[in-house]
Amino acid sequence: MYLSIKGLAKSFDENHVLKNVDVDVQKGEVVSIIGPSGSGKTTLLRCFNGLELPDKGKYTFDDGLTLDFGQRLDKKDLVKLSRKSGMVFQSYNLFPHKTALENVMEGPLIVQKRKKPEVIEEAKILLEKVGLKDKLNFYPHQLSGGQQQRVGIARALALKPELMLFDEPTSALDPELIGEVLSVMKDLAKENWTMIIVTHEIQFASEVSNKVLFMDGGYIVEQGTPDEVLKAPKEERTKRFLQRIL
Ligand code: ADP
Repeated sequence: MYLSIKGLAKSFDENHVLKNVDVDVQKGEVVSIIGPSGSGKTTLLRCFNGLELPDKGKYTFDDGLTLDFGQRLDKKDLVKLSRKSGMVFQSYNLFPHKTALENVMEGPLIVQKRKKPEVIEEAKILLEKVGLKDKLNFYPHQLSGGQQQRVGIARALALKPELMLFDEPTSALDPELIGEVLSVMKDLAKENWTMIIVTHEIQFASEVSNKVLFMDGGYIVEQGTPDEVLKAPKEERTKRFLQRIL
């Protein structure tokens, strides 16, 4: 087991967004989180790296790092938590005044304080990996949404995270640009990256995931393999959701 989370709860004021969620993630596993809008998917994803801090919940990682959000936490442990994952955002969040290459180099140089020559080499390799070898010196506004999102993926990979988090990575894209981003993500899954993906792309989730979580109303209502959850859901709420969107 790479990570086990027990009893995760998160509220925004009176709004109980996550209610006693348990999740396990294996190393090399691709976990997709699906469910209706407002069910808590993005909040759960952001809790994985501490972008949102849970009110309660115990995290246990395979390297011994444990965080109990019900107790006082050591700041150092929160930094360790955040450094375990790379995040790919719905809206890319690239630095507009930096080139593709500079965007990918930023984390390793500034956060990890690594040496520039090796960071440049690695950034070039990552941009080639996501199919942007000929766009190294382009600025975000000179790139399509699909290309910007692929820079976003390369940028997250540059930190060599243990866990890759994707927050609806294709939902801001024109339909014809979705495929190129999903294809990069499929390659990562084949390379056994541990990935957690909030997505509306049910077909993609079905092809790429080892595990699908269906969320509704702040709970994980149902989880299992794509076949179990997407083809033969047990819960009424899952059935209704799938009927609505398929
Ligand atoms: P989903 O990703 O399933 O659409 P979210 O996790 O984005 O759901 O949101 C779940 C609920 O949490 C919504 O009611 C939303 O308004 C609320 N919420 C999310 N983020 C915040 C925030 N930063 N402050 C206040 N409420 C929030």
